[in-house]
Amino acid sequence: MARYPPDLERWRVAARIAAGARELGLRRATPGTPRREVAEAVEAYIRDHGAEPAFPVNLSRNNEAAHYTPSVDDAAVLAAGDLLKVDVGAHIEGAAADTADTVEVGGGHHHDHLVLAVREAVRDGIAAVRPGGAVDDVSAAIARRIRGRGLHPVVDLTGHSIERYVLHGPKAIPNAPGRSTATFEEGEIVAIEPFATNGVGHIENGAFGNIVRFRADPGAADPVLARLFDRFRTLPFTARWADAPEERAALAKARKRLQTYPVFLEQAGGLVAQAEHTILVGPEGAEVLSVAPPG
Ligand code: MN
Ligand code: MN
Repeated sequence: MARYPPDLERWRVAARIAAGARELGLRRATPGTPRREVAEAVEAYIRDHGAEPAFPVNLSRNNEAAHYTPSVDDAAVLAAGDLLKVDVGAHIEGAAADTADTVEVGGGHHHDHLVLAVREAVRDGIAAVRPGGAVDDVSAAIARRIRGRGLHPVVDLTGHSIERYVLHGPKAIPNAPGRSTATFEEGEIVAIEPFATNGVGHIENGAFGNIVRFRADPGAADPVLARLFDRFRTLPFTARWADAPEERAALAKARKRLQTYPVFLEQAGGLVAQAEHTILVGPEGAEVLSVAPPG
């Protein structure tokens, strides 16, 4: 009955690489650093360690909850006080991990409440995972912790199961109770990702965040497009990775075949923090896979 992936070791390695990249991103997010430089450092770390980014690193700031990655000519520079989410994915042949944390740029301690709320919430959520247990137990633990700090969980965003080459699998892990009747299965890989805000806890779509994804195999008719699909499959990617003129032209022509992601903005303009781990549902409970390697 258990559904461990046959190449579990590969998932473990990908998750450790993602975690190391996350920590690097948090360290590199200093006042005056271009956001694009942080993105490139994080993605280079993933490739240098033998994995590929599972999606463009998301560097969403302040009231941006998710889905912003720097564009090819991004000019934004991080400022002291920015609340930056570093959300990183790494995969090895489709065995993927997804992990995030939040840092206040410049370390001014103005937003500790939000950062601690999501770190505690992800820990509580992970502690509530049991094989055969209810997803709702995790959702309740997350919401209890965030509300206990006088903040709101962002209820429109959820954790998710992860399957090979499918970052957002069919099982959602809501950040508030009463929204799921699913249970966990031993051997499943799952991302748990609470978001907390001092706004209202809902998101709305903002501008295009420079992230796209093939909905399906575009076929062999356009060789440039076929090569891009071979590289990214159905995982999200960005023009920073495909900016040769012929690649840009092929992508522009194929726009209807691509899913485009808007930036998610907190509806009331509230500040948003996020923490995320990829876990394995083990025989007793969760094993956190996205643990940073020492050093
Ligand atoms: Mn995720
Ligand atoms: Mn993520």
